Amino acid sequence: MSRPSVSYYRATVDEPTLRTAADGRIAARVCVVGGGFAGLNTALGLVERGVRDVVVLEAERIGHGASGRNGGFVFGGFSRGEADLLRELGEARARTLYAGTTAAVETIRSRIDHYAIDCERVEAGVIWANWFRDPQVLRARQSLLAKHFDVDWQWLPQAQLRDLLLTRRYADALFEPSAFHFHPLKYIHGLAAGIEAQGVAIHEGAPAVAMERHGSGWLVRTPEAIIEAEHVVLACGGYLAGLRRQVDAAVLPIATYVMVTEPLGDRMGEVIRTRAAVYDTRFAFDYYRSLPDSRLLWGGRISVLDRSPEAVRRLLYRDLLKVFPQLDGIAVDYAWSGLMSYARHEMPQVGRIDEGLWIAQAFGGHGVAPTTFAGELLASAIAENDCRWQEFADYGLVSALKPAGFVGAQLSYWWLQARDAWKEWRELAIPS
Ligand SMILES: Cc1cc2nc3c(=O)[nH]c(=O)nc-3n(C[C@H](O)[C@H](O)[C@H](O)COP(=O)(O)OP(=O)(O)OC[C@H]3O[C@@H](n4cnc5c(N)ncnc54)[C@H](O)[C@@H]3O)c2cc1C
Repeated sequence: MSRPSVSYYRATVDEPTLRTAADGRIAARVCVVGGGFAGLNTALGLVERGVRDVVVLEAERIGHGASGRNGGFVFGGFSRGEADLLRELGEARARTLYAGTTAAVETIRSRIDHYAIDCERVEAGVIWANWFRDPQVLRARQSLLAKHFDVDWQWLPQAQLRDLLLTRRYADALFEPSAFHFHPLKYIHGLAAGIEAQGVAIHEGAPAVAMERHGSGWLVRTPEAIIEAEHVVLACGGYLAGLRRQVDAAVLPIATYVMVTEPLGDRMGEVIRTRAAVYDTRFAFDYYRSLPDSRLLWGGRISVLDRSPEAVRRLLYRDLLKVFPQLDGIAVDYAWSGLMSYARHEMPQVGRIDEGLWIAQAFGGHGVAPTTFAGELLASAIAENDCRWQEFADYGLVSALKPAGFVGAQLSYWWLQARDAWKEWRELAIPS
């Protein structure tokens, strides 16, 4: 592996010099804590609504967290499945929330165009490939999405799928045509440039270390600055702000892994003949996509352990060869992990938790579009008193029961992984 500790994204982005850390006493209408998608989308949403009196604090560099490390799939929906949403919220409210994410996919598209963000967008959809022979899981989801959410995922029969993905691992698949994929860190930098061009300061190396009430607003302290703000938005994902116990206690940081191979050149055609991104139907699914320079980005696994790049490479390489044994021997140039933030209810926690104090966190492994949705909701709430964020009220700050929650999450992951393995074994043992 050539650069084991750097992600492919960081290695291929033209990173500006480190932005200044905040300094002295700063007055602002809004202080956003966290420079990932949730924080930056809130800041951009504010700026687009004419609120420019905004300060963004990022402890490291923007995109340091999940937002700059993810698979780059941009698609509708949440970590929580659509059937659960329907059951918990009823049809009208479930549709409203789901539609917020598909609208967010369009918002991302239009921002890429509007701000001329060069982020290697690939408009080729996403394939959800069935690891199992039983087609029921595909049929049920396809009809549920069509019937209750007005979303059309197309059926991709096995024969057609095998022309696109040269593996015998999958049966049929569904194709989500309105989805796309991109280089998330380049997109982050484009968002930041759009925000800064409109006069908003983004500070890096500026961790918020304390927060207290100050009149009707808040004081946020960094090692070198005090920000006095009417509103504070906490958007720190699985990297936990450490500013309010109740907020941090409501999420479990869970690691997931990604690797990127050497450029495959013509060998790519031996395994993948589509530009669509792919994931599968298991609970612990693989996800992958070909990159513009003919590398393969491969991700998967969920763990409470944040493993070393070498351990990530070993694990994911095994997973890759289970699907594409033809690639045995290829080199892996990059491997990394990132932390997702999960609530026990698997839904984002979005909204106001105190006067002038807002949160956007717990987007799980499905956060690119939902963070954009959340940013829009919070920005319009702060700028225009819009109350739509209350659609998330059912999914509040429930304790993640740490540290027992970590054990529970790992056990439930192993259990669901074992259930998938059992289903696979049974299908192999019982000929169709
Ligand atoms: C490996 C991986 C693959 C994924 N793949 C996909 C995918 O393909 N598609 C998809 O939709 N979703 C995917 N996700 C999920 C998605 O990336 C996340 O849900 C989303 O990026 C979360 O954004 P966020 O802004 O909430 O958090 P983050 O991006 O984690 O940002 C939080 C930021 O807050 C900063 N911070 C923390 N504390 C402080 C503090 N006190 N002061 C200042 N700053 C602070 C951190 O440094 C960090 O930069 C993936 C996640 C991972 C980890």
